[in-house]
Amino acid sequence: MGHINFLAFAMPAFFIFLFLEYKLMQRRKKTEIFNYESSVSNISIGIAERLINLFIAASFYQLYYFIYDNYRLFDISGNVFIWFALILATDFVWYWYHRLGHEVNFFWAAHIVHHHSEEFNFTAAARITTFQAIIRTGFWCMLPFIGFHPGMVIMMLIVHGTYSFFTHTQLVGKIKWLEYIFVTPSIHGVHHASDEKYLDKNYGDMFTFWDRIFGTFQEEEEKPKYGLTHPLKSYSFLWQHFHYYFEIYELWKRSKGFKAGWKAVFGSPADMDQDIRPILEKRFLQDKSSPHQRLRFRNYLYIQLGICALVLSVFTYYFDLLDLFDKVFVLSFILITLINCGALLEQRKWMYYLEYGRIFMVTAYFLYKEDLITFLFVPLAIMIFAEQLFSLSKRYQDVLLQLDNSEYE
Ligand SMILES: [Zn+2]
Ligand SMILES: [Zn+2]
Repeated sequence: MGHINFLAFAMPAFFIFLFLEYKLMQRRKKTEIFNYESSVSNISIGIAERLINLFIAASFYQLYYFIYDNYRLFDISGNVFIWFALILATDFVWYWYHRLGHEVNFFWAAHIVHHHSEEFNFTAAARITTFQAIIRTGFWCMLPFIGFHPGMVIMMLIVHGTYSFFTHTQLVGKIKWLEYIFVTPSIHGVHHASDEKYLDKNYGDMFTFWDRIFGTFQEEEEKPKYGLTHPLKSYSFLWQHFHYYFEIYELWKRSKGFKAGWKAVFGSPADMDQDIRPILEKRFLQDKSSPHQRLRFRNYLYIQLGICALVLSVFTYYFDLLDLFDKVFVLSFILITLINCGALLEQRKWMYYLEYGRIFMVTAYFLYKEDLITFLFVPLAIMIFAEQLFSLSKRYQDVLLQLDNSEYE
C-alpha cells in the first residue's frame, strides 16, 4: 500500500505541457510550428518507448547495480560535491553517446528517429525509441563503473531526461548569457537543424562547455530549418523505426571485403549511399496516391492516440500488480494501435486487417478472462459473416481511407 508509481504521471504531464505550448503559440499566431501528421507520429513513437521501457527498465537498473557491486573503480560517497561531479559526468557521457550516435551508422540507426521530426516542439522531445534507450544504457554503465551509486545515477538520469524535454521548444528564443553554460532551446534547435553550418553541432544535453571544448559548438544565427538533410517521407510507425537498419544491411550486402562491410555498419552516416533508401522504399512501402492530401478522419486518429496514452498511464500505475498475460495483452494492444495510426497516416490498405486483428484480440482477451474462451468462434463467425454480407473491407476503405481534397487547392 502507499505505493505510487510516479512514472504514470509522465504522460499526463507531457500532454499538459504540450497543450500549454500549443496555446501560447496560438496566442502568438505561430501554430504553423505544429504539423498534424508529424505530431501524431512523434507522440506514437514516444508512447511505444515509454511502454516498452516498463518491461526493460528494471533490467537496466539491475545492470547498474551489477556493475557497481562487482566492478566499480572508486568508492564515491554521496555529498554535495559528488552530486555536482555526477551531473558533469552524466552530461560528459551523454556528449559522447550523442556524438557517436551521429558519427557511427549502427548508433545513428537508432538516433536518426529522434531527428526525423521536421517540427521542433515538445512532441519532438518524445521521439525516442527503445533502441536508443538500450544503446544509451550501455553508455550510462560508465557511471556506476566509475563508482557513482546506482541510486544516485538513476535519480540523475531522471533530472537529465527532464531537462532535455524542455529544450525542445520554440517558446523561448536566444538567451545569450545562459548559453555560456547551459543548453537552451535555441542551442538544441541548432542541433536539430539541417542547414549546412548547423550540421553535427551541439551534442550536449545540459551544458554547452563540452561542445566548446571539443569544437562542436554553434550558436543560432539564421533561423534553423528543422529535420534531416535527407528527410524520411513516411509516417509509417514501423518504417520509421527500422528503415536505417535496412539501409545498413543493404549497404553491407553490397560491400565487398571485410573492411567495406565493417564500414557499412560502423562507418559514418555521411558516407551512406543515398540511393539505397529510395530503392528500399519502393520495395517495402506502397506508393501513396497523393502525398499532399490530408486525412479526413483526424478525430479517429486522435481518439486512438488518446486511448493509447490513457491506457499507458493506467498500465504504468498498476504495472507491478499485473500478471504477465495482462501485460502482454496491453503491450500488443497499444503497439497494434500505434502501427494502425501510422498506417492510417500512410493510407495503407492492409490496415483494415489490422483493425480486424485488434478487435479479435480484444474479444479473445475478455472471453478468456471470463472463462468463456470456448465461445471464441462467436466473434470470429460474426466477423466473417459481416465481411461477407456487408463487404466491410470495401466500405472501410471507402470511408476511412478517403482523402479530403477540400483543404488543398
Ligand atoms: Zn542528435
Ligand atoms: Zn533533440
